[in-house]
Amino acid sequence: MRLIDADKLHLKLLDMQFPIQDKDAILDAMDDCIVDAAPATYGKWVKADYKPMIFTKCSLCGRRVEIQNKSAFCPGCGARMTNGKA
Ligand SMILES: [Zn+2]
Repeated sequence: MRLIDADKLHLKLLDMQFPIQDKDAILDAMDDCIVDAAPATYGKWVKADYKPMIFTKCSLCGRRVEIQNKSAFCPGCGARMTNGKA
């Protein structure tokens, strides 16, 4: 899959001087605006097996963090942490 930054493409097309029939120019502009993106991964904070129970861990990579430092993304693998949220 290839993704395109639509805002960047819009600005690039506004700056270009070409007949609308010039497909090659449009395709070149699109190639300049392709961005690399990885599929999103989703994980959950789960109970860690460590004592004292001040830690939680990522369900995907097992990265352990203090409960008070839970974040929306795992610092280990970058997964979006859902914990029941879509
Ligand atoms: Zn992780």
